[in-house]
Amino acid sequence: MTAMADVTKATTRINRRPAIADAGEVAPKAATPEAAPVKVLENAGYCSCCRNQTVFVAYDSWLRDHYLCTRCGSVPRQRHLQSVLDESFSGWTDLVVHESSPSNDFIARLCSDYSSSQYFPDVPRGAFKDGVRSEDVEALTFADESIDLFITQDVLEHVFNPDRAIREIHRVLKPGGAHVFTAPKHRGLDVSRRRARLGADGVVDHLLPEEYHGNPIGDNKALVTWDYGYDFEQLMSEWAGAEVQAHHRRDRGRGLDAEFNEVFVIRKPHTTVVPTRWEPPRGRRAALGQLRPALGHIKRSLVEVARPNRSAD
Ligand SMILES: [Zn+2]
Repeated sequence: MTAMADVTKATTRINRRPAIADAGEVAPKAATPEAAPVKVLENAGYCSCCRNQTVFVAYDSWLRDHYLCTRCGSVPRQRHLQSVLDESFSGWTDLVVHESSPSNDFIARLCSDYSSSQYFPDVPRGAFKDGVRSEDVEALTFADESIDLFITQDVLEHVFNPDRAIREIHRVLKPGGAHVFTAPKHRGLDVSRRRARLGADGVVDHLLPEEYHGNPIGDNKALVTWDYGYDFEQLMSEWAGAEVQAHHRRDRGRGLDAEFNEVFVIRKPHTTVVPTRWEPPRGRRAALGQLRPALGHIKRSLVEVARPNRSAD
């Protein structure tokens, strides 16, 4: 039985304002069908998605979905994620990158070793549908330690078992690799809460009124399974067994200003090196043999200390 319903596991835009009130949120304008669009924001800047000087414009105060780059159409969280990649992962476009449930090719078109997948409930994991790989982020088919950067944009609020998803992503990451992701973290919500769970019979049990976001595949509906709150990083960190970095940035020169615009990074630690057991050398000759290289190194070091500018002579 599949681990999730077909309305889940998809990159989404939060195309409805959340039910949870966010302190400081700009009150949405009353929309009437006749009203001409009113420009609420316009400024020049640099877009990390199309890597161009551009103009950012918003015709709606809900900036998360409406503060657009006029050249590529990107929204703030996409630009923020790519600016974090640029600033934190030098040469990332040449790494092995996998993106789960992308809704665009902003990252794909920059990378030399990129793959992506969508959740198709009717396609076996690892198989392809119309050229798109089917994957369940709670049970990936990738080999252990095979991916440098695993990217999810607004996916984790749509999985039934984000703990499993986080652990799976960390299984497939190479040591030193990272999961870079966005997910809405609600201000005003102290403890993250599950909105829906999947019963053993495969039927979705709604613990809270159903809420959906847009979905790039299927019927365009992605069920929200979790609302994340203040404890989000703590939860993620416990599930991953690694530290979570949260990036916050408001910089209109980069088109970064929106609700829920954090980018999170969890790096997989490098494998701990376990030293092999030291065996004492046998006999005087063997002991001298082991000491000789060390003595040579010390002698060279002393010479360098005594003559620091030798190469400039
Ligand atoms: Zn752009």
